[in-house]
Amino acid sequence: MDLSLTAEQEAFRDAARAFLEKEAVPHRQEWDDRESIDLGIIPGMAELGFFGLTIPEEYGGLGGDYVTYVLGMEELGRADSALRGIVSVSNGLVGKSILGWGTEEQKREWLPRIATAEVLGCFGLTEPGVGSDAGNLRTRAVRDGDDYVIDGQKLFITNGTWAQVALIFARTGGEGPRGISAFLVPTDTPGFTAREVTGKLGLRGQATAELFLDGVRVPASAMLGGPADQDGPNGEGQGFKVAMSSLDKGRVSVAAGCVGLVQACLETSVAYATSRTQFDRPIAAFQLVQDMIADLSLDADAARLLVWRCADLLDRGEPVGLAASKAKLYASEAAVRAANLCIQVHGGSGYVSDYPAAKFLRDARVMTLYEGTSQIQKLIIGRAETGINAFT
Ligand code: FAD
Repeated sequence: MDLSLTAEQEAFRDAARAFLEKEAVPHRQEWDDRESIDLGIIPGMAELGFFGLTIPEEYGGLGGDYVTYVLGMEELGRADSALRGIVSVSNGLVGKSILGWGTEEQKREWLPRIATAEVLGCFGLTEPGVGSDAGNLRTRAVRDGDDYVIDGQKLFITNGTWAQVALIFARTGGEGPRGISAFLVPTDTPGFTAREVTGKLGLRGQATAELFLDGVRVPASAMLGGPADQDGPNGEGQGFKVAMSSLDKGRVSVAAGCVGLVQACLETSVAYATSRTQFDRPIAAFQLVQDMIADLSLDADAARLLVWRCADLLDRGEPVGLAASKAKLYASEAAVRAANLCIQVHGGSGYVSDYPAAKFLRDARVMTLYEGTSQIQKLIIGRAETGINAFT
């Protein structure tokens, strides 16, 4: 087993870090205060390749392996989790769903523009009435001639007010997961509106939205996961599989971002602990402070190794679902622990926005909630270990 990085992987990580240190880190608190990143950073991120990682070159992407992808997500998480979320959703959840499930026409239509961030994608699964129980979603798509007409509402949708394309999960059939289909909906389609959710605890630089679909008409060719040779009639009924396979990879993205967040907490804590003096000594000289630093260092390594295992499985084309749940569970809980410790190391200074520790904690807090809460990850792991499905 060789955990060393190739020269290309190191070069990408170093370029990503240098770019983000210059273009993101100095601005992240201001973006957080005003509840929006400066969208002017997106083209630079796209030029570096963030939005095209693992999208094949023939579709305008950078190609590249999943190890490079998780290195990129780690660097984004280290700099600003709000930026990481934008990329994870557009490239990860939407781009990779199109790559995995799309027709050739859909791939050619959307992937080159997603890879360059000319188009941002959003992923519309959660609704006001369903989050963890996404298989019971209520948004409906009804066939009308060559079209589908979609009606419903989505909640907490990352990139929702910025996206040009929304991957919308809607019910085309009966109850439960098998009645769900997925549609690629251009957000300028009549009847589609997005309303910003403001006042979030963290990830404030990132747009989060409520989506309203009111008689949104799309051609049947907008369905993702067809064609008609699969489970349901007219290619219907693949949506839940599309969503779950996207979330497997999405959880790797979130986990990798959390590794970056833990790493940022470690580096920030070391910098503070070695410069802050109490009792005539740097506080880093106190064993109880070193205890916190050691916990941070261990969590960064442990979470990173779980994430790298996922990248390795993905690069070898092996199933990643269970490993992704473990990585997401561990890394997200570690991010919350790390941000808490980072504040503790900073004392009172950790509680104000002059230092990044408080933002780290606010950003970390959502990681155990979205893309499957920690409880949901435990049920997935428990199901694998016991053979008993607690979801049904
Ligand atoms: P619920 O499902 O109502 O859960 C509430 C509590 O009950 C949790 O503790 C949960 O673990 C627990 N619980 C539920 N069911 C079980 C069970 N069977 N066993 C044990 N405990 C259980 N969604 C999208 O579709 N696209 C996005 O881009 C997106 N971005 C988001 C961005 C942000 C900032 C936030 C906050 C959310 C985002 N979400 C998005 C939604 C997110 O995925 C959901 O909030 C999450 O899945 C949890 O669903 P819920 O909020 O409805 O909570």
